[in-house]
Amino acid sequence: MSPRALVINTAFIGDVVFTLPLIENLGRAGYAVDLVARPGHGALAAGLPGFDTAFAFDKRGRDAGTAALVRLGGELRARRYDLVLGAHPSVRSGLLAALARGRRSVGWGPVGYARRVRRGPRFIEDALSLAEAVGIPIDVRTPHHPTTPDPAVPADAVALVPGSRRATKRWPHWASLASRLRAAGRPIVLLGSEGERDLADGVHRDLDTLGWPLCRAAAALAACDVAVGGDSGLLHLARAVGTPVVMLFGPTAASRLPPDPGRLDLAVPGLPCRPCSDRGPRRCPLGHHRCLADLSPDTVFGSLQSQARSP
Ligand code: SF4
Repeated sequence: MSPRALVINTAFIGDVVFTLPLIENLGRAGYAVDLVARPGHGALAAGLPGFDTAFAFDKRGRDAGTAALVRLGGELRARRYDLVLGAHPSVRSGLLAALARGRRSVGWGPVGYARRVRRGPRFIEDALSLAEAVGIPIDVRTPHHPTTPDPAVPADAVALVPGSRRATKRWPHWASLASRLRAAGRPIVLLGSEGERDLADGVHRDLDTLGWPLCRAAAALAACDVAVGGDSGLLHLARAVGTPVVMLFGPTAASRLPPDPGRLDLAVPGLPCRPCSDRGPRRCPLGHHRCLADLSPDTVFGSLQSQARSP
């Protein structure tokens, strides 16, 4: 019987995408891997080697209390893990790891693990360091989400991803870019959550996938010629399905990601205040948000043309 590992990551979509190489390496090392993630996020690991079961943990909703944590902990304990890895730094994730009672445990958080690993400045390497800490060999260093491209999406489509959890990572010129793309005859696919519909005001689109489950969104992204958006989870998912992207960096730094020729990083040059935050502040501390407001639609349109797979 395969040894069994549990990965805990109840953060955002991008964080789960950055955890996919950890899951894939565990699977390649012979582990059957389970994942605790927010509802819908576990689907990102489906199809990876060794991946077994996703446990949905709605920590901000129906599972917010202690009773739900203890209940899930008991469910996990019954699966008798050889290894528990906490790729999330919270005390709650540490408590869940402790309740799961794996034979070995390692995590970033201050409590709940037999061994603690400090997080560094790079998302994917930090997740992989958990496996390295317990001697798991690392062969895969980039996220990969297996999916079949959606046949309903035209091959020359451009994916627009206007949303991000933090308002300061949202570019304000989507309608203007969409007009240029439309004039160039490019089909537009709009992606994001249902709650981001207001960000798409005035944006022309040929296909609207707002609110689609992540696996369907991944299939739409995989079919697109190129994708553009801020430093957000769906853009990282686009790279995981192999689609070239233009990523618009405002308050955050591209240096937390590995170099990637499929990702063209755009930022306002010479702006002394950027980057100002690891994950994006809620509001621009200077009030002007020039890091993204000054990134012109012409610059983004030209970069899309150069990054696209089709001429
Ligand atoms: S301080 Fe600078 S980098 Fe930070 S949000 Fe404001 S404009 Fe962007």
